[in-house]
Amino acid sequence: MTAVTWTGKRVTVAGLGVSGIPAARVLRGLGAHVTVVNDGDDERSRAQAAELEALGVTVRLGDGASLPEGTELIVTAPGWKPDKPLFLAAAKAGVEIWGDVELAWRLRGPDAAPWLAVTGTNGKTTTVRMLASILEAAGLRTAAVGNIGVSLLDAVLGDEKYDVLAVELSSYQLHWAPSLRAHSAAVLNLAPDHLDWHGSMQAYAADKGRIYEGNQVACVYNVQDPATEALVREADVQEGCRAIGFTLGPPAPSQLGVVDGILVDRAFVENRQKNAQELADVSDVNPPAPHNIANALAAAALARAYGVEPAAVCDGLRAFRPDAHRIEHVADVGGVDYVDDSKATNTHAAEASLAAYDPIVWVAGGLAKGATFDELVEKSAKRLRGAVLIGADRALIREALARHAPEVPVVDLDRTDTGAMSAAVREAARLARPGDTVLLAPACASMDMFTNYNKRGEAFADAVRELAPERD
Ligand code: ADP
Repeated sequence: MTAVTWTGKRVTVAGLGVSGIPAARVLRGLGAHVTVVNDGDDERSRAQAAELEALGVTVRLGDGASLPEGTELIVTAPGWKPDKPLFLAAAKAGVEIWGDVELAWRLRGPDAAPWLAVTGTNGKTTTVRMLASILEAAGLRTAAVGNIGVSLLDAVLGDEKYDVLAVELSSYQLHWAPSLRAHSAAVLNLAPDHLDWHGSMQAYAADKGRIYEGNQVACVYNVQDPATEALVREADVQEGCRAIGFTLGPPAPSQLGVVDGILVDRAFVENRQKNAQELADVSDVNPPAPHNIANALAAAALARAYGVEPAAVCDGLRAFRPDAHRIEHVADVGGVDYVDDSKATNTHAAEASLAAYDPIVWVAGGLAKGATFDELVEKSAKRLRGAVLIGADRALIREALARHAPEVPVVDLDRTDTGAMSAAVREAARLARPGDTVLLAPACASMDMFTNYNKRGEAFADAVRELAPERD
């Protein structure tokens, strides 16, 4: 890679936001001529613009479409769609487009920490946090960064020195990061998501697959999701880089897997044809739901690829605490467990959490984002004690239940007001019997009723506490 001379370089930053503002500041600090373009022109963006203008950055509000004259490079917010007029104009003019991740990658110093990178449709945040926990347990200076909400630019340019970074990458970020070369990377799973942005499943998969490009040590894939292995085969990696699978079953050579309730490594061991190394117990994974064990195996594979000892994998998994609203146990009320998986905002995620419990009273619904529910309901029908439906697109789930699980009692709450969640939890409590799990796994986005999935999860937990005030 040729070094970039930043002084006087004309850079357009697309989007004032969590990635655009730090990018503009950093580039200006390097002496570039920075213009920020932004679609919106509201009070907040005007205040942000004023701060950047004070640094000598030009800001164009309400005009994210036209390419500023003389632009030599665009640095875009990851969410900007590739078919935007700005990018079409850039392509015509032969102007390169980088995302925030590409910028961070290019600006990292010569002795920068290597990246262990994770992507996938679901499980990214959990896996990256587990990985950081394992690396910490190994005594390494590390942080969980990237799409998780911690800017890579800060991690790469800040004062803190890291040995290695655990990096979460979204498909958008990967799309705009052409020269990223991770030490090792994992694609956890692939299910249709964000297809309106990428244009097709193929394009979405191809963007996810970029994470493997140029990997040095390991490309980690999901044995039970062959699409992830196909991406490894297509990747151009460094000489000697290995394909490492993870599976919930017994591992073949060059895989990590599970044998008799033990997480075992048959990849990073001497004589892997004959030997396997115990890493941890399934009960060390918190919570030990099948999809979460898969996340733990992926995290372990990346850590082992980096040379972490087995004991640190175990210690790191034990120390890991999941983020809120991800299969979070809220309470046991009268022998019924209440579990909040508000983060299950698509069918693939909901399928994973429904697979983790039996029998279940399922609380679901919200904004379907174009999804269909037949496959999900068909696979989960046997476990359902009942279902309580809320939100704008609940009819789609009700119809799928009628087709594939006609015997399952369904309460269809024709409400989208703020009290609807309390009513839903009361109905669920009525359907549940001791030993059951009432599971909020909406399979839908929350914005029809709540500000975000956090608020939806909080409403669920509050409603559960209303059922059992003495346990508050
Ligand atoms: P992401 O960062 O990819 O959105 P999270 O770790 O935040 O992933 O988990 C989001 C939701 O996805 C969880 O609440 C759970 O329902 C589901 N999930 C987590 N891991 C997996 C997995 N490996 N496979 C399928 N679904 C998963």
